[in-house]
Amino acid sequence: MSLYIAPNEDVIANPRHAKIKEVRAYVSRSEDYGASDVHDTSDTHWILGLTDEDGGWDHVTTHPPITNPMSRYPEYSGSRASWGVARVPTVIVEIEDEQGRIGIGASTGGEAAAYVIERHLSMFVEGRNVTDRSVIWEQMWRASIHYGRKGLGVHAISAVDIALWDLYGHTLGEPVYNLMGGRTKQRIPVYATTSRPDLAKELGFPGAKIPLPYGPADGPEGMRKNVSFIGSWREKVGPDFSLMLDCYMALDLQYAAELARVLMPFNLKWIEEPFMPDDYASHAKLADRFEGLGTTTYFATGEHEYTRYGYQQLIEAGVGLLQPDVMWMGGPTEFSRVVAQASAQGVDVVPHGCGVYGYYMAMAFESINLAEFMMMSEQGDTIEPNFGSVFTNEPLPEGGYITLPDTPGFGLELNREVLGLVRPYDAR
Ligand SMILES: [Mg+2]
Repeated sequence: MSLYIAPNEDVIANPRHAKIKEVRAYVSRSEDYGASDVHDTSDTHWILGLTDEDGGWDHVTTHPPITNPMSRYPEYSGSRASWGVARVPTVIVEIEDEQGRIGIGASTGGEAAAYVIERHLSMFVEGRNVTDRSVIWEQMWRASIHYGRKGLGVHAISAVDIALWDLYGHTLGEPVYNLMGGRTKQRIPVYATTSRPDLAKELGFPGAKIPLPYGPADGPEGMRKNVSFIGSWREKVGPDFSLMLDCYMALDLQYAAELARVLMPFNLKWIEEPFMPDDYASHAKLADRFEGLGTTTYFATGEHEYTRYGYQQLIEAGVGLLQPDVMWMGGPTEFSRVVAQASAQGVDVVPHGCGVYGYYMAMAFESINLAEFMMMSEQGDTIEPNFGSVFTNEPLPEGGYITLPDTPGFGLELNREVLGLVRPYDAR
């Protein structure tokens, strides 16, 4: 029988604390504001993986290809922009309390997420205290389960949850990491995700992650080219520089197993996200193959997984390194649960590259020892903000480390002049 042997009463706002007055969701109509992991850039940016007509590249206006879930279709096998990787932009949430304090959150989801936040999730937030984030999270999750559960619905929850933590930080005058566990390290080591590991090394990063150029659709020749591509980077950066490989959901089981085997001589730190995220059976079988190889390379994944329930499936499948994205997977409230869940089951966590939000998580949790920095400059040669011009004061790495300020919340200021924010669903 259930343990609800007495009625579970509603949480009533505590009059000692300000109530939340309003939740607002915005999108930018500006042409060139940039955004996290949306890659709203010209085709000459390395992150779109567009080669010259012969399949070559000069690292200036053409770049190594990036295999992805759509590259099996010739029509969409060129630039990642061809299938609309950047079509759904950032959503920005503001949560204001009765005292006029404002918390800010962000995720990917554009106007679709803005609708969910304004017309649905706001009802579980307005009128409450910012202290009551757990019950707010649970109600947003349960009430959106019939259309949410994974993907955009949880992105919307994440943006609200981030804004609540930011507001709580502003209420107490403390940075979010102090609300979640305090500093566990003075600075956060970050690796660079880039097309140019050699330049990342020169910039002082302790490691770099490169995209896999070719996938199953490129046949045996593509596999040979993958091996020589990764081998040549290993030679350029030397044996002691950490090198990682991102397969961005492009592979199948046999291809991934073969790739792990032939890449063993290059001593990769991890091989990331070989499969479409719901293919848990292939994850389990690949984890077995890794074990059979006796490799110390991690099988890593999780940037497109959601909530503790999803990560539990990856842990049970045998994934050794989880990469939750706090902007997507449920926000800081859920992220803290996944960190605990992983650490109790011998699984490591490196936050997916959502920039500053991931760094606050890495700071607050002792078991996280590394975070990701996306090289968002066109040629991967200079350090630029992950969110483009969304914020005026994103902390950037120096010598491979991020230093976080001790300003309240997540310490971020919206770049309102550049963003030209509009609130598409304000009339409730
Ligand atoms: Mg990745």
